[in-house]
Amino acid sequence: MIPVTKPFLPSFREYEEYLSSIWERQWLTNNGPLLNEFELKLKEYLDVKHMLYVTNGTVALQLAIRALDLKGEIITTPFSYVATTSSIVWEGCKPVFVDIEEDTFNIDPTKIEAAITPRTSAILATHVFGNPCDIDAIQAIADKYNLKVIYDGAHCFGTKYKNRSVFEYGDICTTSFHATKLFHTIEGGAVFTQSPELLKKLVFMRNFGHNGPEDFVEVGINAKNCEFRAAMGLCNLAHADEVLEKRKTLSMHYFEKLKNLKAAFPRLNASKDYNYAYFPVLFDSEEMLQKTIRELSLEKVYCRRYFYPALSTLPYVTAQEMPVCDSVVKRIVCLPLYHTLTFSDLDMICRVILRVQNYGMTTEAEEAAAALENQIKSILTVA
Ligand SMILES: *Cc1c(COP(=O)(O)O)cnc(C)c1O
Repeated sequence: MIPVTKPFLPSFREYEEYLSSIWERQWLTNNGPLLNEFELKLKEYLDVKHMLYVTNGTVALQLAIRALDLKGEIITTPFSYVATTSSIVWEGCKPVFVDIEEDTFNIDPTKIEAAITPRTSAILATHVFGNPCDIDAIQAIADKYNLKVIYDGAHCFGTKYKNRSVFEYGDICTTSFHATKLFHTIEGGAVFTQSPELLKKLVFMRNFGHNGPEDFVEVGINAKNCEFRAAMGLCNLAHADEVLEKRKTLSMHYFEKLKNLKAAFPRLNASKDYNYAYFPVLFDSEEMLQKTIRELSLEKVYCRRYFYPALSTLPYVTAQEMPVCDSVVKRIVCLPLYHTLTFSDLDMICRVILRVQNYGMTTEAEEAAAALENQIKSILTVA
């Protein structure tokens, strides 16, 4: 069975060493030494000024909306994971969708201004598949209309934009370290900001608003993370370069093998430091996509329609037509991509995909044709 992704795991020995130290100290959570070490090392690795490690990427988004005190409407993308939209609604704001670019699948900055109203307080955009949005264009609009900018950088571990970590753009950027992401701490996430004031506010918000044991300065929530996950983060951080390198090699192999495929791959906005977090393929038609998915599943290869459906069709938002996004969601699929995917499996996946394109003959159809042929043969033999 080949799933769309598999979590990276360090050797059990590596994790066990950290576990022993936790047992010795008996310090399980609340800003423990492993958590501090992880935050420091991760900041250094990512080359970012400020970062707070939190429970998950969804809470990171909720904290960002709260810390910026956003109200009213938030302009956002219909092409992302559901958490991008649900966080806006959860925080009592209204998502207003703006369609995406056809070639990057990120929010289209040329369509943002038309969606701005006197109630708009911010833009919340996702760097889809780790490919940065047109950050300069978005910032220019935000500056002109005095809007805040939040980036959902859940896919962006290791990606740079103009030689700087993509996490350092926007008023706040968030990320996720969920097990399915290319770098993970089982569950986990982070918020990044360049502003010391916002950082201070977020520190309090992450921990119930505590400023010392008996002093509460903010309405807070429990968004802190624990020693066990920090330990997984420390283990995985030691392998991060290796994981990034492997995904790049696998992706290049996919590009090479699929160069004759009639499909599109995203146009990259990243500098050379793109992370190859996913391997999306945009087919020409939904029919082609469905045929391909079916053929692959017959070979026990399971892709994922990522993202599907458009967030502008969620039952709890005001439905909006998004012509580009509505068309992309019907035709896009992410192919398997993970550290231990073998080249022979990758080759097989590409063979199946090209077979569907070149012969249009599905395995089922092939089997049916073979059965018919046998039937005819047996009739002829009897005759
Ligand atoms: C995974 C993901 C999230 C949510 O992160 P969690 O850590 O699972 O809460 C949010 N946005 C995007 C784009 C994601 O892919």
